[in-house]
Amino acid sequence: MKKYKLLTPGPLTTSDAVKAEMLFDHCTWDNEYKTITQKIRAQLLKLAHVSEDAYTAILMQGSGTFGVEAVLSSVIGDKDKVLFITNGAYGERMLDIADYHRLNYLAYNEEYNIIPDAAKVRAILTENPDITHVAMVHCETTTGILNDIHAIGELCAEFGKTYIVDAMSSFGGIDIPLEDDHIDFMISSANKCIQGVPGFSFILARTAALEASKGNARSLSLDIYDQWKTMNKDGKWRFTSPTHTVLAFSKALDELEERGGVEARYQRYASNNKLLIEKMAVLGINAYIDEAYRSPIITTFLYPEQGFDFTDMYNFVKERGYAIYPGKLTKVDTFRMGNIGEIYKEDVENLYNIFYDYLKQNA
Ligand SMILES: *Cc1c(COP(=O)(O)O)cnc(C)c1O
Repeated sequence: MKKYKLLTPGPLTTSDAVKAEMLFDHCTWDNEYKTITQKIRAQLLKLAHVSEDAYTAILMQGSGTFGVEAVLSSVIGDKDKVLFITNGAYGERMLDIADYHRLNYLAYNEEYNIIPDAAKVRAILTENPDITHVAMVHCETTTGILNDIHAIGELCAEFGKTYIVDAMSSFGGIDIPLEDDHIDFMISSANKCIQGVPGFSFILARTAALEASKGNARSLSLDIYDQWKTMNKDGKWRFTSPTHTVLAFSKALDELEERGGVEARYQRYASNNKLLIEKMAVLGINAYIDEAYRSPIITTFLYPEQGFDFTDMYNFVKERGYAIYPGKLTKVDTFRMGNIGEIYKEDVENLYNIFYDYLKQNA
């Protein structure tokens, strides 16, 4: 099979060193393994600029959605009410989760190319004093739009609401100071900006808020309080842990630190993203989201005027070493390219040449 690099926002292209960590079948119950889990938990808190006194980290088996569902189903009690703020498929997925668990909620749904308006959120919170929790997505991977989690966090602090943020596709690639943003529960996963492989999600929680959620869980395997109680003792996972993924993730965290941390990673993602958008514009392929709202993570591109068929182009690009991503919008024809993972300037330049050749061939 011909190999290619992933321009999808997770799984993404990982380093050889991260992949190599998985060539060992580690035992789960011994101290060495538990120490790795504890080290990961401490490193994650450090990345979020929070202390081990105020916040704690919980690792949860499964993909990112399992982490989001774990938080929503463990934290929201029968008498609670959540305000979901959505402007994309991942925000809407939270509504699906809420329906499955029969949570009380209200939704403020924005257009996919617009960031939620803090003034509207203020009005909703003022009119609905029974709201106890607010939940939203940071980088909506659907489009690549970057929501203002800080502005909504300020409102949560002012109104005394518990704040849940899905920062799946941004944590590790964009600095998120949890306490400054007033975040009580933040969810991300192993295979996004930390650049590990799929297999678990993680939750960073304000310890007091987590303690307060005791007894609210609606599922055994996704009970974050119970997972935390067990893991917090000595690093033991409640059920079989994804050992290979954990080893790879530990390596990925060390690499992130060695290479200059979140700031350096942000710079690489942002400059490659900017270059990608500039290069595509030269070819008449334009970004869907306004510059002011774009994330440096993934970009939605509108189809060019002519000479373009997604499947055809996908195969053309794949044969030349890259896997791109279909669009997720219903109203306009789009495709997406992520630039997180082991993607560098040379890759962006290669892509420009590949797209140039494709469009020329079809002209
Ligand atoms: C990737 C992602 C998820 C989780 O998706 P999974 O396929 O379950 O890993 C959730 N929210 C956002 C914003 C994401 O980018």
